[in-house]
Amino acid sequence: MTKVSYAANPLLSSGRLFPEPTASFRNEFQRDRDRIIHCSAFRRLEYKTQVFVNHEGDMFRTRLTHSIEVSQIARSIARVLGCHEDLAETISLAHDLGHTPFGHAGQDALNHCMKKYGGFEHNIQSLRIVDSLEKRYTHFDGLNLMYESREGILKHCSIMNAKKLGILGERFIKQQQPSLEAQIVNIADEIAYINHDIDDGFRSGLLTIDALMSNYLFKSCAEDLWKKKSEINQEIFINEVVRRMINKMVSDLIASSQKIIKQYNPTSLEDVRAMPPLISFSQELLQHKLEIKHYLRKALYEHDKVLAMTDKARNIINRLFNYFMDNPAQIPAGFKNGSDDDFSLTIADYIAGMTDRFAIQIHNNID
Ligand code: MG
Repeated sequence: MTKVSYAANPLLSSGRLFPEPTASFRNEFQRDRDRIIHCSAFRRLEYKTQVFVNHEGDMFRTRLTHSIEVSQIARSIARVLGCHEDLAETISLAHDLGHTPFGHAGQDALNHCMKKYGGFEHNIQSLRIVDSLEKRYTHFDGLNLMYESREGILKHCSIMNAKKLGILGERFIKQQQPSLEAQIVNIADEIAYINHDIDDGFRSGLLTIDALMSNYLFKSCAEDLWKKKSEINQEIFINEVVRRMINKMVSDLIASSQKIIKQYNPTSLEDVRAMPPLISFSQELLQHKLEIKHYLRKALYEHDKVLAMTDKARNIINRLFNYFMDNPAQIPAGFKNGSDDDFSLTIADYIAGMTDRFAIQIHNNID
């Protein structure tokens, strides 16, 4: 499908903070995607927890494989809706760059440590990485990405932080939307993690097919398989259902969003920003999605085994933070970001950038 007038367009963008000559054989969003793929924070996603700690097994999702799955789903949706596929891919690959080690447990722990210094938000951290922490260019810090890429990376933001971010933070104050490509990635993220967490949860032994069948969304995609379940290998059963669930969610999202877009009829990205969210599931699917998310929270994210990991992670992050506050000389030379007077921010940057295994190693060394 050709791109529509409300798709993001690099030629109409306010561009980069530091002007650069245009690329000769790529559009500017493709160029951003390539900058993300070549940055060191992207490579470290391979060793960061999604739900299961990286060393718990080789077959579980990591932040890297999660980001690639999000990108696959977002690109499919963007293409059908006539949006800019390269921008959707860029935002997908960058959306989790700011995550700490140990998944949400790590983020919560670091946020708690940073409470009196302004807190820690992983979305803001993703932006800090692409805006200043990556050091790869002679003329500027960060990756100098396009406005729409940065806008999409900053998915959530507190009003307090939004006020410090200038134009990029304004939409949170005015309650405006980002581009459709960013809206697509937000939901592609949800589709990816609901489905891969079912898959990982099953293979870890924490979720069973019998229990999953209590969810409408799962059951509606499994009924014919359930009738002959004794003949089907359980892993193939899960793979088949997960594949169908992704397809069902993506198909619903596309059909529902097409209707909403038709109703509001945006003709430019400015229209999209001023309108309510245009990318949305149908009301029916929203209900079923809520049901399965609630189930996953109880059965998986709050499972004793996952919570035991969460506890360990919280202790590691707390101890690392306190250790570096007491021993600032232990932060590697050259790590401090020149523009920050606040040392707590340097520590947060250092800890947030660690992989799971590096955080464990440093923690063991300070014993
Ligand atoms: Mg994600």
